[in-house]
Amino acid sequence: MTTANRNSTHTDNHPHDRPRPPSVERLLSLPDSQPLIVRHGREPFLRALRLVLDGLREDLHKPDTDARRFEPAQILSHTASVLEAAAAPRLRQVFNLTGTVLHTNLGRALLPVDAAEAVMRAAVAPGNLEFDLQSGRRGDRDDLINELIGELTGAEAATVVNNNAAAVLLSLNTLALRKEVIISRGELVEIGGAFRIPEVMRRAGCKLVEVGATNRTHPRDFESAVGARTRLIMKAHTSNYAIQGFTAVVPEARLAEIAHAHDLPFMVDLGSGTLVDLERYGLPHEPTVQETLSAGADVVTFSGDKLLGGPQAGLIVGRADLIARIKKNPLKRALRVDKMTLAALEAVLHLYRDPDRLHERLTTLRLLSRPESEISALGERLLPCVQGAFGQAVRVTLRPCQSQIGSGALPVDRLPSRALVLEPPRPGRGAGTALKHLERALRGLPCPVIGRIKDGALWLDLRCLEDEQAFTRQLSGLVLP
Ligand SMILES: *Cc1c(COP(=O)(O)O)cnc(C)c1O
Repeated sequence: MTTANRNSTHTDNHPHDRPRPPSVERLLSLPDSQPLIVRHGREPFLRALRLVLDGLREDLHKPDTDARRFEPAQILSHTASVLEAAAAPRLRQVFNLTGTVLHTNLGRALLPVDAAEAVMRAAVAPGNLEFDLQSGRRGDRDDLINELIGELTGAEAATVVNNNAAAVLLSLNTLALRKEVIISRGELVEIGGAFRIPEVMRRAGCKLVEVGATNRTHPRDFESAVGARTRLIMKAHTSNYAIQGFTAVVPEARLAEIAHAHDLPFMVDLGSGTLVDLERYGLPHEPTVQETLSAGADVVTFSGDKLLGGPQAGLIVGRADLIARIKKNPLKRALRVDKMTLAALEAVLHLYRDPDRLHERLTTLRLLSRPESEISALGERLLPCVQGAFGQAVRVTLRPCQSQIGSGALPVDRLPSRALVLEPPRPGRGAGTALKHLERALRGLPCPVIGRIKDGALWLDLRCLEDEQAFTRQLSGLVLP
């Protein structure tokens, strides 16, 4: 150890020939500590400082400890990075270039700015969440959206809960507790691992009666299953798979007929709530809530953050008497939504009143209906810039690809798109590792870029990239291994 080092670490009067960290008091009194205290607060600063000092003390007895680490400037800079890391939010913004527009792990639908502003207003100021401004009496939070949903779907009444899983659970529990619910064997869906019709049915306290075969179900299957204990006929939209080949499903109108002939309600779990004919925007057809209701469904449930393009929510719409029963279920209280969800939902539903401009204003629909030519032009602009950022280390090409809608909507349909395809230059041994490093480097950016590994390359589907500048700006900071 050199004399200079010893001086700089203030160990002159230490009995051993070892550096010793300066005291908390001394560090606290240094001018460089003040901005950190102002920025993070005195207590967090002290906590981080002690953490760093504890680490240094542990290293004290290691023979190769670098004495410079005991200098106050080093200690404070280390403390600053500990504080920054602790202050950074864990929920961060990312670029979703996975090619799945409604990506459940990346937060599904993106709210239009107007809806986000409505959330902000609802969050920071009091509002008439459950207060009738006309009468001055207590109100009902569902009334905030009831009329709009009626106008858009033709439903007599509506109620909103936490998500569609909650909507199905609450509806089943209300309409068929300890009784039988008949559903086709081909519709016992599992959504994202945790939501499975047979399990939700059990938890709702209902007895599942599955009818027909996996590929074919006929009206007589339902008719012969109806008995004294039957309370509901149910249909679940096969959101994330398709049964093809020798198949038969009973149309909704026919199921409604069978149910009504036995004085039973007919419920449809639609999964994705589409309120407009998507073909109008050049997309494949997805059954709408209106169609389902006009086919005779008495209760329809759907998600707020799938094709509807709103906040996470579960909507239950349909016959007024059934909705009233559902709202009286004590479980409703446990599953209800807050003012911020209702604010976002109301703002999004408002956009549906003007279908001509919906594809410009509703983010989800704008991304889904984005013209291929526009995505392609974006790719051409980005290509040189991305290639420049990677240099020789990676080969970058612009290629056609297929985006998915995701989140259990139109499972087999694909939307033509363009991707920047990143490949390590040498295929063969080590290419897999190089690809993983590349993927990790993009994930390590200030706004992480999430792509998809396919055929030995990293694909960045550009469909959901709207902020081109933000994307290119951070590429200069890319650190490749
Ligand atoms: C997505 C989906 C659900 C679950 O909806 P969440 O809003 O994610 O709770 C239930 N049923 C069907 C048919 C679905 O597609």
